[in-house]
Amino acid sequence: MMITHSEEIFKEAVAYMPGGVNSPVRAFGSIGSVPRFIARADGAYLWDEDGNRYLDYVGSWGPMLLGHNHPSVQESVQKACAKGLSFGAATKIEVDMARRMHEMVPSVEMVRMVNSGTEAVMSAVRAARGYTGRDKIIKFTGCYHGHSDSMLVQAGSGLMTHGVPGSAGVPFGCTADTLPADYNDLESVQEIFRRVGEQIAAVIVEPVAANMGVVLPKPGFLQGLRQLCTTYGSVLIFDEVITGFRLSAGGAQQLFGVKPDLTTFGKIIGAGMPVGAYGGKRCIMECVAPIGSVYQAGTLSGNPVAMAAGYTQLGILKKRPEIYSMLEANGKYFFGKLEKMIRAAGLPYQVNRIGSLGCLFFTDREVTDYASAKTCDTKAFAAYCNAMLAQGVYLAPSQFEAVFLSAAHTKEHLDQTLAAAERYFCDLCKA
Ligand SMILES: *Cc1c(COP(=O)(O)O)cnc(C)c1O
Repeated sequence: MMITHSEEIFKEAVAYMPGGVNSPVRAFGSIGSVPRFIARADGAYLWDEDGNRYLDYVGSWGPMLLGHNHPSVQESVQKACAKGLSFGAATKIEVDMARRMHEMVPSVEMVRMVNSGTEAVMSAVRAARGYTGRDKIIKFTGCYHGHSDSMLVQAGSGLMTHGVPGSAGVPFGCTADTLPADYNDLESVQEIFRRVGEQIAAVIVEPVAANMGVVLPKPGFLQGLRQLCTTYGSVLIFDEVITGFRLSAGGAQQLFGVKPDLTTFGKIIGAGMPVGAYGGKRCIMECVAPIGSVYQAGTLSGNPVAMAAGYTQLGILKKRPEIYSMLEANGKYFFGKLEKMIRAAGLPYQVNRIGSLGCLFFTDREVTDYASAKTCDTKAFAAYCNAMLAQGVYLAPSQFEAVFLSAAHTKEHLDQTLAAAERYFCDLCKA
């Protein structure tokens, strides 16, 4: 069999890099394949090193909401590059960015820029602990908040025990104050508050869970968290690294009408450059150095090139609300058709969707939390994912990732993708 360029590059990659990749989600091991090494992208498309073209439903895991190489974003980045890549000093564009984020997400009264979503969450948790003088954090099973030590907690340890690290190299002490609760199960949160409410610094949640597929909050779940945090004086942190500026111009908090105390951002606010941010109530953010005693710093934080990219992307989203109505219409159309197709093929699979985020779960159970997400047939997903790749559709190589639509995806793109899926599922039925 002929060896592809991707296979050739991968062979060398594994010699020099763990697993041949710089982030485990890029590995194709779970679908029994090798990563496609990407040479370039444009609009809704990716091209790999072999010259294969794919319709891209990953969008760099969210940042490319406007599609790849949006001309305004490209231009602002090139202009910023010409002026210098980094100064390690204050710049005006950081202030412009902070104001724009506040205008679009009013709960963000003050903001601190960092370099990744991981860093944003790590810092927000520190600020919440500094502000409250408490140590314990509640997080939800199946929600991902980056790879900082205290967030790497796998649940299953039961609510009466302390969190157990979900990764080697994380000392027990780092997760001992992380208490896991079940997503969409307010009772599991109330139970923890009843026991140790006065020790809870923060509750952190993905308002729409988008790292176990896509799982929507049940009515009243986010409102219930808000109420509990207010009652006990704990900080409510919405991790909007995926949902921020995607589900609406004001993120999930605007869509659901629930106001967190702190919000973390990443992905879209960098438009493809490495950026994160955390922000919220003035009284909490004023605890952060240099005016407060919570230390947090960054050599490249607020980098002028990254700020230019994000500021331009947010500006477009702010000026053009029709982008969100189009994303909603396209999401409804695409995932609606997909669900109909699945039913017509007599398959019991589940489709969850909100706006431009969706997931086809290969399970017959309604997916509302981690336990139900875990019932998926990952082998069936792998076969589907590979079949789609072979037809030029690039899906995240994992059952537990979202499908990301962008503003560059047209009806024609979506129809081509649906046709590819239909071919696969029809063949499956005949077999
Ligand atoms: C991606 C993600 C993170 C981590 O962001 P990185 O930039 O990868 O460090 C944190 N929280 C959520 C909800 C995410 O989806």
